Amino acid sequence: MDATTADTTAARSATPSRAWAEIDLAALRGNVRALRERAAGAALMAVVKADAYGHGLLPCARAARQAGADWLGTATPEEALALRAAGVGGPVLCWLWTPGGPWREAIEADVDVSVSGMWALREVTDAARAAGRPARVQLKSDTGLGRNGCQPADWPELTAAARAAETEGLIRVTGLWSHFACADEPGHPSVAAQLTAFHEALATAEAAGLRPEVRHMANSPATLTLPEAYFDLVRTGVAMYGISPVPQVGGPADFGLRPVMTLAAHLAHVKRVPGGHGVSYGHSYVTPGETTLALVPLGYADGIPRHASGAGPVLVAGKLRTVAGRVAMDQFVVDLGGDSARVGERAVLFGTGEHGEPTAEDWARAAGTIAYEIVTRIGARVPRLYRDDPEGAGGPGGGGGPEGRSDEPVAGTAYPHPEQGRR
Ligand SMILES: *Cc1c(COP(=O)(O)O)cnc(C)c1O
Repeated sequence: MDATTADTTAARSATPSRAWAEIDLAALRGNVRALRERAAGAALMAVVKADAYGHGLLPCARAARQAGADWLGTATPEEALALRAAGVGGPVLCWLWTPGGPWREAIEADVDVSVSGMWALREVTDAARAAGRPARVQLKSDTGLGRNGCQPADWPELTAAARAAETEGLIRVTGLWSHFACADEPGHPSVAAQLTAFHEALATAEAAGLRPEVRHMANSPATLTLPEAYFDLVRTGVAMYGISPVPQVGGPADFGLRPVMTLAAHLAHVKRVPGGHGVSYGHSYVTPGETTLALVPLGYADGIPRHASGAGPVLVAGKLRTVAGRVAMDQFVVDLGGDSARVGERAVLFGTGEHGEPTAEDWARAAGTIAYEIVTRIGARVPRLYRDDPEGAGGPGGGGGPEGRSDEPVAGTAYPHPEQGRR
């Protein structure tokens, strides 16, 4: 048995029997490079909050760094500290703080913290005093999103107090930043208004004596559509995972991006049933005639939206099918009509779309939501398999070629990541 055979055997035996999400780290790296090229004058922050939008925090953070991401961004401090605990270095910003948060741990871990108000500035300066070293602080301005961030009326007080704390040696103001409300609707009047407000906020901060390392505002949609918003840094999340945040403008391929997650399962049951047979809870679907039903062992506990009942698309036995009846907690059914499939055959819920399978965007449309939510909700019960082909070809032993129609579990180079146990 040569090495390739051994690897393939290992990959197969490691493939979960029920369902899995394959995460293509080479695609993620390609996306990071494409985004860096697009915003060439700016640094890039890879946003890895929410377990990297469901793709897995550490493997994605490391792959993003390998591809040149200058910064990593998280929502919660716990997410940022998890990066540090795993040995991930380099600049990291976390922005969603609450009173009593782990300010001192963040300071000691060299994590940048975001401050939107005086209460947070007080807590972080207290923590810096206790730690005996300055905190790296980024001040967030609310330029119109109306969520986190400091209102323009309170900004002069916050920036002046931050400057005073800087002079005292308690903090270093490393960044000034804001976030868009409607960057995914290019031309929305709030976009230009927020840019103007941000320029004003920067001028006020600079007049207070602040000289940050980075000023930033752009999320994925602004990075793809609004160069005026680049400033020193762009913060890309969903685009890095190969999903277009502006599907009405273009799909991933139009922006040089490739979806990273493929969600698949093995059919748990296939059977003939007579016409007039109710399917799943509530019998919202009744077979129109004698037919073959296939059972997909994924449900809303795995993050499959119940709102996609009767609507979600699935590739089974070489054709696109639709969820028949309700999505249950652990399973749903598809009607194969006159076709058949083998029990254990692969069903693909979404992937790149390159092999006839649906995309996360298709599921978003079916469920009345956005593709961000589709991938991020995929639950912890679904193991992630990390595929990490060498750049370029399909990779040695990768089986090559399109695999979407194959019923092999996961071809070739997919393997469980060393961090699999975390999930
Ligand atoms: C989630 C988030 C981002 C990334 O948004 P995408 O649209 O996924 O690129 C950027 N900045 C902040 C503050 C965020 O919360």
